[in-house]
Amino acid sequence: MAEVKEYLNYIDGKWVRSKSGRTFENRNPAKWDEVVGIFQKSSKEDVEAAIEAAKKAFPKWKRIPAPKRGEILRRATEIIMERKEELARLMTREMGKNLKETRGDVQEAIDTGFYAFGEGRRLFSWNTPSELPDKFALTFRKPVGVVGAITPWNFPMAIPSWKVFPALLAGNTVVIKPATDTPASSAEMVKILEEAGLPPGVLNYVTGSGSEVGEAIINHPDVRVVTFTGSAEVGSRIAEVAGKHLKKVSLELGGKNPQIVMPSADLDLAVDGVLWGAFGTTGQRCTATSRLILHEAIYDEFIDRLLKRVNELKIGDPLEEDTDMGPVINQAQRERIHGYVEIGKKEGAKLLIGGEPLTGGIYDRGWFYKPTIFVDVTPDMTIAQEEIFGPVLSVFKVKSLDEAIEVANGVNYGLSSSIYTTNLLEAMKAVEELEAGITYVNAPTIGAETHLPFGGVKKTGNGHREGGWTVYEIFTEWKTVYIDFSGKLQKAQIDTWEE
Ligand code: NAP
Ligand code: MG
Repeated sequence: MAEVKEYLNYIDGKWVRSKSGRTFENRNPAKWDEVVGIFQKSSKEDVEAAIEAAKKAFPKWKRIPAPKRGEILRRATEIIMERKEELARLMTREMGKNLKETRGDVQEAIDTGFYAFGEGRRLFSWNTPSELPDKFALTFRKPVGVVGAITPWNFPMAIPSWKVFPALLAGNTVVIKPATDTPASSAEMVKILEEAGLPPGVLNYVTGSGSEVGEAIINHPDVRVVTFTGSAEVGSRIAEVAGKHLKKVSLELGGKNPQIVMPSADLDLAVDGVLWGAFGTTGQRCTATSRLILHEAIYDEFIDRLLKRVNELKIGDPLEEDTDMGPVINQAQRERIHGYVEIGKKEGAKLLIGGEPLTGGIYDRGWFYKPTIFVDVTPDMTIAQEEIFGPVLSVFKVKSLDEAIEVANGVNYGLSSSIYTTNLLEAMKAVEELEAGITYVNAPTIGAETHLPFGGVKKTGNGHREGGWTVYEIFTEWKTVYIDFSGKLQKAQIDTWEE
């Protein structure tokens, strides 16, 4: 067996062990006996050293002009492009999604990196007339300071890149804590940024648990921005701590995303959409389709076509090119998913297919779970309301578009949503009325592009949007500048205009 690689923390430009010397293993969810890497189990002291380094590096980094900071990000992005295949393979081993998807995940980092490079020559701000003569009213974007980035396991490189690239481009310094299940992809990203010439202390990487490393980051007074993607439960904890310290905080949390199918829809297209939306990434996307809302006129026909296609899904080793669905992330998550299935049955939903772990042969090496569909689901059921984060789809039957929209909106989350219809009026009504940060027409709930705003309403977040130009609102603060060249004292709101 190949020797298992040990990854270190990256603090102040040096790769170092955790101060306690403790480590943990990162394992492959498809082959649990395979250790992907050994990582540092850090504690508060390691976090303090990382924040200290970031704080020290900030004054110099923010003075480098944004186009020059962008050059470093461009070089890093080019290296990611060269190493795309190798990075995708590593990610499939540490996370379990198939190679097509991990190539896509790395591609998101590439897209985000090049966008940030371009933003180095934009970072546009607003100028506006003053209400007084001979006076300029200008604004500038300024970096905030030390950013704490805390990321989940389902997009091991894409999500870290969404946070790290724009935070750095804007002139902040960063401490990142990746998810314990998937620290390798972000470690490689950090190494690449180092190779591209990022100065010491500008980006620091500390691995370890949410309760130790995560808590130490969010509670530290020198961390001025916390950017978090993960569960609503942890998000709310972070908002509470950030509120106490008056930190800026951006939260990207869960979803319970609906796909509506109306009678005029291209049914095969809608089946393609829900298959990809519900079972892609083994259902472990914040934008995964977890609710399918079918109009009664096409209900039976649609269920028949869907069942046939679900039965054809190839579930297995995600390193094989033709695998559609890999395992779920770990044992606890598989148990959690199964717990929801049991609740669904108890509450009276009808299990159409799946509903149990896959066993035997290669399945016994990992955390595989059957694609699962419940029908006869009503909006009050637990499986209709809570995020399961696995390959479990709940199907609802409705009589009208109004009822479909009411069901779709009847949850606490509001990230993504989708409608399949060829009726223009129905499509427009759905776009107008679905309570979600993202609505797709004739496309699945997953598939966001990195140059558009990404995030959701209600308990999906706290009003911020990552992606595109909107993420720069998180990582910059406005400086307003008035320049008075009248040579006299002018009083806003008080002086009156005379010729
Ligand atoms: P999670 O349990 O909330 O963990 C996310 C991150 O927070 C991990 O790095 C975790 O560390 C850390 N953490 C845990 N407790 C913490 C604490 N008290 N203080 C600070 N950090 C803490 O979520 P997950 O299970 O990794 O990811 C699944 C969730 O993420 C789902 O709800 C999904 O919808 C959501 N998600 C949302 C988006 C979006 O953009 N809206 C995208 C992807 C995923 P450990 O790994 O060490 O526990
Ligand atoms: Mg792993």
